[in-house]
Amino acid sequence: MQITSKLPAVGTTIFATMSALAAEHKAVNLGQGFPDFPMSEELIELVAKAMRDQYNQYAPMPGWMPLREAIAEKVHYLYGSRVNPDSEITITPGGTYAIYSAFTSFLQSGDEVILFEPAYDSYIPNIEVNGAKVVRIPLVYPDYHIDWDAVRAAITPRTRAILINSPHNPTGAVISATDIEELRKTVEGTSILILSDEVYEHLIFDSISHQSILRYPDLFARSFVCFSFGKVYNCTGWKLGYCIAPATLMKEFRKIHQFNAFSCFTPTQVALASFLQNRDAYLTLSDLMQQKRDFFIDQMKATRFTLLSSYGSYFICAKYDQISEEGDMDFAVRLTKEAGVTTIPVSAFYADGKDDKVLRFCFSKKKETIEQAVERLVNY
Ligand code: PMP
Ligand code: GLN
Repeated sequence: MQITSKLPAVGTTIFATMSALAAEHKAVNLGQGFPDFPMSEELIELVAKAMRDQYNQYAPMPGWMPLREAIAEKVHYLYGSRVNPDSEITITPGGTYAIYSAFTSFLQSGDEVILFEPAYDSYIPNIEVNGAKVVRIPLVYPDYHIDWDAVRAAITPRTRAILINSPHNPTGAVISATDIEELRKTVEGTSILILSDEVYEHLIFDSISHQSILRYPDLFARSFVCFSFGKVYNCTGWKLGYCIAPATLMKEFRKIHQFNAFSCFTPTQVALASFLQNRDAYLTLSDLMQQKRDFFIDQMKATRFTLLSSYGSYFICAKYDQISEEGDMDFAVRLTKEAGVTTIPVSAFYADGKDDKVLRFCFSKKKETIEQAVERLVNY
């Protein structure tokens, strides 16, 4: 049987490809973004308890209410704004699903969505499968800042949304209050929506405060804001996240969600509702990840890689011009096979394969893993 592909240009994701190559060559995997250290024992116990307490049936479609209430409380504490747990928060099976559902709830055929490259790899297929068009704007290398004049020049009567992601995957760049001001000027007086991917919300360094869209009621009024518990609580395999949006937008989001996943795994929601009661659950996360970033930067000084800056997420990019002139995909493959260290070539985050000869490293790893990787890179 033949079917007409809805995503003819799409192959296997770079994360699956590089992780498979890492496994094949027994390489240290600093490619795909996942921690290799244990998650919180307390949180594991809370999930086990929830299962024993028989929280094993469907959760309500928008999510376990005490968890939504805990999120609303956290949002108020961190960003000073009130979101309604009943009508403005929906728990989802991961951040990726939240982003896909948000796009699917509003995109019409022919709409345009502005996004910045390098871009997390699910965005473009999410937009295109909805019959909409992607308008790609490059972040300015090497610090990957947004060129707001380029954004304004790209706006047309068909522009339906702008997608932002801070802290940013793959670069670790973060947006500033000035970026928010530029965003505000850009969308003011238009009907452009904002999709804000904030899955690395709590992984931001150097005392920089996260510029969540939730801080800005005027911008939140036109936004879907997406989060991931997997990313921040070192349990990416849980695939649990959430979306926050104003009630009118959330109503449409739930129309998509209720006929897709409908609801998420109940025990993890019950556990997180109780875990989030202690603010340390999120207030301590940046420090831990910053230590990992700093350890990685320090160790990498012994190699010929030149690290770029990372202010958030669990990624940092590096140039390798002192080692090779190869394209980044070829070099990343060779590095896996010959040095035994796997990374992600940043060209994979550009639809046209733009190659600045930069690799992405994930530093959300045990000390020993980083040491082992660097040992292998020193002589390369
Ligand atoms: N957005 C970005 C930028 C990410 O890096 C990730 C993590 N893969 C996600 C969204 C989705 O997270 P989840 O694993 O919860 O779907
Ligand atoms: N977000 C992770 C990364 O950027 C991977 C997610 C995935 O494998 N789909 O590496």
